[in-house]
Amino acid sequence: MFFDIVTIFPHFFDSSLKEGVVKRAIEADILKVRTVNLRDFTTDKHRTTDDRPFGGGEGMVMKPEPIYKALNVLKEEPPEARVILLSPRGKLLDQDLAGELAQLQRLILICGRYEGVDERIREHCADLELSVGNYVLSGGEVAALVVIEAVSRLIPGVLGCESSAEKDSFSDGLLEFPQYTRPGVFNDWEVPEVLLSGDHARIAKWRREQSLGLTYEKRPGLLNSAQLDEKDIKYLRSLGWKKN
Ligand code: SAH
Repeated sequence: MFFDIVTIFPHFFDSSLKEGVVKRAIEADILKVRTVNLRDFTTDKHRTTDDRPFGGGEGMVMKPEPIYKALNVLKEEPPEARVILLSPRGKLLDQDLAGELAQLQRLILICGRYEGVDERIREHCADLELSVGNYVLSGGEVAALVVIEAVSRLIPGVLGCESSAEKDSFSDGLLEFPQYTRPGVFNDWEVPEVLLSGDHARIAKWRREQSLGLTYEKRPGLLNSAQLDEKDIKYLRSLGWKKN
């Protein structure tokens, strides 16, 4: 999969793409991430990418021409790309949407700054306006990294152990069960006995019930669309859950 990041701060990504899962996927040629400096698509001496808002008011707005030019140049290259404008007003990124994006060959991510991007870019150039949460960041760069991390771990081969993404929180609509590692006792804090029992059926049952219980406690809304069997429903009912 191929990500193009359109930004006025290409160096923002220097270190973050050189660590961990993303770094390994880039080295293995499963992932390609390219930063595109928006200032390379300006024509004035000062390489201006923003201007004052029409109608007055605080702050600056990203100009449409450099973004438009950058997109036209990028779209001349194969493979075909989906253009995403990062914006707090966009569709909220969740695990399902990350999974849909992971099916695509190429994404172009436009990072706004200041008060945001001239609306005509959203209207005429973006295929999707995407938000990473109901809060306002100072720029789209951190949001672009969130998209890259969430999407890339769902591409086959990116995670060392294929099964780890399948067991992650949200993959079957539930939160993940709690994880523990050595030592078994630390500061008098003990690991749940069942995990040391070696009884795989009991461990699987405990983990499933923990997933169900945690989801019920922390994100009950997820249960309405989770994949639940009879046993799950019975267990949830014993906790007080009432199906909508
Ligand atoms: N004035 C705008 C916020 C601009 S923040 C408003 O009130 O809606 C500047 C840039 O940061 C945005 O153009 C966008 O690219 C990015 N950004 C901020 N919050 C974001 C979020 N929650 N998700 C995705 N991008 C975000």
